[in-house]
Amino acid sequence: MGSLGIYYFQIEDLGKISYKRLSMETWRLIDTGARSAAENMAMDEALLEWKAAGSIPHTLRFLQFSNPTVLVGHHQSVEEEVRLDYCRAHGIEINRRLTGGGALYWGRNELGWEIYVSKKDPRIPSRIEDLYRKMGEATALGLRHLGVRAYFRPRNDIETQGRKISGMGGTELSGAILFQGTLLVDFDVDEMLRSLRIPTEKLQEKEIESVKERVTCLKWELGRTPSMQAIKVSLTKGFEETFGVRFESKPLTVDEENSLKSKVAPFSSHDYIFKTRSALPRRKTLSSLLKAPGGLIRISIAVDSKVRVINQILITGDFFAYPKRAIFDLESLLKNSRANPSDIEKTIHSFFSDQKPKIPGINETHLIGAIEEALQKIDLLPEGFSEEETHHLFPILKPFKEVRNPEVLLLPYCAKEVDCVYRTTQGCEECGRCSVGDASQMARSFGMDPITIQNYEELESTLRNLKQSGVKEFIGSCCEPFYGKHRPDFERIGLSGILVDVERSTCYDLGQEKEALKGRFENQTHLNLPLLKRVVEYSHG
Ligand code: SF4
Repeated sequence: MGSLGIYYFQIEDLGKISYKRLSMETWRLIDTGARSAAENMAMDEALLEWKAAGSIPHTLRFLQFSNPTVLVGHHQSVEEEVRLDYCRAHGIEINRRLTGGGALYWGRNELGWEIYVSKKDPRIPSRIEDLYRKMGEATALGLRHLGVRAYFRPRNDIETQGRKISGMGGTELSGAILFQGTLLVDFDVDEMLRSLRIPTEKLQEKEIESVKERVTCLKWELGRTPSMQAIKVSLTKGFEETFGVRFESKPLTVDEENSLKSKVAPFSSHDYIFKTRSALPRRKTLSSLLKAPGGLIRISIAVDSKVRVINQILITGDFFAYPKRAIFDLESLLKNSRANPSDIEKTIHSFFSDQKPKIPGINETHLIGAIEEALQKIDLLPEGFSEEETHHLFPILKPFKEVRNPEVLLLPYCAKEVDCVYRTTQGCEECGRCSVGDASQMARSFGMDPITIQNYEELESTLRNLKQSGVKEFIGSCCEPFYGKHRPDFERIGLSGILVDVERSTCYDLGQEKEALKGRFENQTHLNLPLLKRVVEYSHG
């Protein structure tokens, strides 16, 4: 490793000054420019191997991608993380990183940085949390040199004003560490949402808009795009100051470039990029909806169902949080943590006690409840429910698996034929013209009483009467907006059960909610009969 001789003086006794040589280590700086995804991945492997073999000094690499690229984490499944058809149609390259973590979208303007160091170097923290912090602080310091108020945010982000501007991750090989990060420079967030399977399945348009508030880039923060050279100089300074070293630019040698060429083909192969799905952990997207006094909380969570780790979480809704970044910070803390109640409760309690966010009408219990409710849906998957189906099931008072042998099936009048004589009165003669008749037959075959509900008052009085007459549990059908709004009413009445989403378009979609509550909704919805039947079977199994 080269070194730069720097001299400082020390006073040995009055009037006598001696000069002592202070050695500042020099690390290598490589700027490999814009390359294909396969070349960049091959270079990661080559540099890590060379570092492990001790044939290169500690090194900082800057990289870019010559085409827009999606990179999945090393253990992820491309099919689960990437919108393949969209990427193929739009020339977006797909590849797999050496490092773990989540899928990333890289535009041509984004900048990557990578550090290759020995684990045993005293400047490299041995605890993984400390390593992330040191690398994150170096990047944040570099960004502050550019004029962006950036800070490291556990577990692996650099944020400014609560918005993520850079993410990081690492891997190691025989005593060598590769630690890498992305810096968003002029980011196309819509293209990211189109390219990646961000867990937005259950989010409405305005909530998807709020996903965009979670990221930022240099251009938005500074109101201009700094030159790539200026960014690299600032980041280099951040690493120099954090590690107490100096970087010297030393491009790849001809031998190194030649040796790299032989590595590119394997990284371009279908086998490497797609790997075998069965060997990969399985990501599941789960959701929940909880009405708290402060507003509706909507959770969308991507979980690795094999090792039960949270890959990604979105907490959205119509509540207010102060500071606004509080929710983004909480999401960052929950990401990569274990998807079990005790870890979630610990993380949320310590977040509230450390950060003291103000979220009027929403407390720790609401957030814990909403997240745990989404995670409970994992238990439905081995029972034959698809991931998509779980988005359409809503619990009342109890986890799904605790609703056993419900006695009644409540059916909404809006699913009856518009010209049916029973549209405005209770009952159904099962004439075969609509799903209410089929559902009634199915309920009876399981020994349940089908009851049609004509308006909101009747729903309340029916639930109360059922409870008074000793009925313990029910299954019902309603639309998601109705559940979101009236869940506290169901809970107040105290009869537990499961609600199954109806097929659209509902009174809420058509802006006729008031008419519907009075039983005067003029359109027809449709019961999701296959799902309703599966829930009835499950609860009687
Ligand atoms: S099945 Fe029942 S609710 Fe549907 S149209 Fe016939 S009688 Fe009316």
